[in-house]
Amino acid sequence: MPERFDVIIIGAGPAGYVAAIRCAQLGMKTACVDKWLDGNQQPVLGGTCLNAGCIPSKALLESSEIYEQSLEGYAAHGVDISGVKLDLSAMMARKDKVVAELTQGIAQLFRANGITFCRGHGKLISSRQVSIENGGSQARIIEASHIILAPGSSPVEIPAAPLEGDIIVDSSGALNFTKVPGRLGVIGAGIIGLELGSVWRRLGSEVILLEAQEAFLMMADQQISRDALREFGRQGLDIRLGARVLSSQIKRGKVEVQYEDASGSHQEKVDRLIVAVGRMPNTDKLFTAETGLALNEWGYIHVDDQCRTNLPGVYAIGDVVRGPMLAHKGSREGVMVAELIAGQAASVNYDLIPSVIYTHPEIAWVGKTEQALKAEDIPYRAGVFPFAANGRARALGETTGFIKVLSHAATDRVLGAHIMGPQASELIACATVAMEFGASSEDLALTVFAHPTLSESLHEAALDVEGQAIHVAKIRTKK
Ligand code: FAD
Ligand code: AMP
Repeated sequence: MPERFDVIIIGAGPAGYVAAIRCAQLGMKTACVDKWLDGNQQPVLGGTCLNAGCIPSKALLESSEIYEQSLEGYAAHGVDISGVKLDLSAMMARKDKVVAELTQGIAQLFRANGITFCRGHGKLISSRQVSIENGGSQARIIEASHIILAPGSSPVEIPAAPLEGDIIVDSSGALNFTKVPGRLGVIGAGIIGLELGSVWRRLGSEVILLEAQEAFLMMADQQISRDALREFGRQGLDIRLGARVLSSQIKRGKVEVQYEDASGSHQEKVDRLIVAVGRMPNTDKLFTAETGLALNEWGYIHVDDQCRTNLPGVYAIGDVVRGPMLAHKGSREGVMVAELIAGQAASVNYDLIPSVIYTHPEIAWVGKTEQALKAEDIPYRAGVFPFAANGRARALGETTGFIKVLSHAATDRVLGAHIMGPQASELIACATVAMEFGASSEDLALTVFAHPTLSESLHEAALDVEGQAIHVAKIRTKK
């Protein structure tokens, strides 16, 4: 007889493990299946996010930022340090330690919540059953009245740049270089390409990003994209837009990359090449054809607004379904599905999922961009405030960037907030909360923000919607 659970979850990334914990909190007998193995071939929880995504990339972004600051930034504060040296293996070891502590933390949470972890490859074989292959000859079968599919995503590979050892790598390889590449090519100037390019530029690489699209960061507010492109260029990231990579060859340990742009064909020789051209949903060997699980036209598992698949009792969440490939989006879906299974009312507000790019300066936004409002013919007003006019930003020496608040022209309801600047990743939470509560720009304007803080820039941007920002020198003509 197969072992029975109330719910089985395939995948222990931020979508799956959060769903598992919420199911257990709600009193369900919960099993979570995952196949991820760490460098020592030991099973680890946390999926891409903890092992090869959000966490290791942020650990390296932090370390590389400290390194660059210590080379160039501290002198402006009157702190004179000389003889700064990079110990890349110590930096990598720290990153690995941060990852290990967090993945062990999830294992602890599983134990505390009584969740059964099943190591191995899970496959949906019916709406109620999952088979688990774990290297042995016979697959184990477990069953439940509800199944949640959370298998995540993997980097897209392109024939123009097949992965090769530690020379042509995907994002996972780029988090584990053992030497700082002299010249580093990055295919794709999306969020992952920019973050990884930033890490290695700060550590000393000459970084060239080849991006097929003519437009830079199309999903962000275009005013921010323009400023960011200029700022990243100033920092030394060589971003080439409209540059489509056609082929690449490894010759004597280096990579020759051929690409074309509007002016013709070009070639670049780099020491290492990162392929960061997007991610695709993990649906391979996830289910048998007999289950009849439906995928959408792009290969994602087809779901409704509440993550129900076409099979009764089977849900899918996280990167394997439509919507932004972001950890917090998957986690929120995990909580929603657990609560739906428990018979509660639950939903996800897909309109208010914040996005962050952890470059320097950081970029973050929530809600609609100005270009989307224009395209949808929604009347709006904009308020903008530069960090250069914010006391805390000046004290930090972080004056690049601005905050923009967009509100409906008739109702004043905040429709979007866009930030480029220090702590944008943290500041965006304030705007997200306000928007979740249906705030108007006036509500933000009437709120008292502590001084001196970066968040005062959000206050001032909201005030600026009515032309009432205090710390901007706008010439006014008497009426
Ligand atoms: P995953 O995290 O991919 O987890 C899926 C899990 O399922 C894996 O452990 C996998 O082994 C397991 N699995 C798959 N198939 C099976 C199967 N058949 N049987 C058993 N187990 C299976 N997002 C952010 O929000 N913020 C960031 O800063 C950020 N930075 C990123 C940086 C990088 C370099 C990368 C690559 C991604 C980053 N992301 C970031 C994206 C984020 O990692 C993903 O959106 C998130 O991990 C998706 O969560 P998930 O649970 O859907 O899938
Ligand atoms: P993202 O999907 O945000 O991770 O970004 C991936 C980026 O890679 C997209 O902006 C694509 O336009 C870009 N891209 C995909 N294929 C190529 C290619 N062959 N050459 C250059 N850029 C590419």
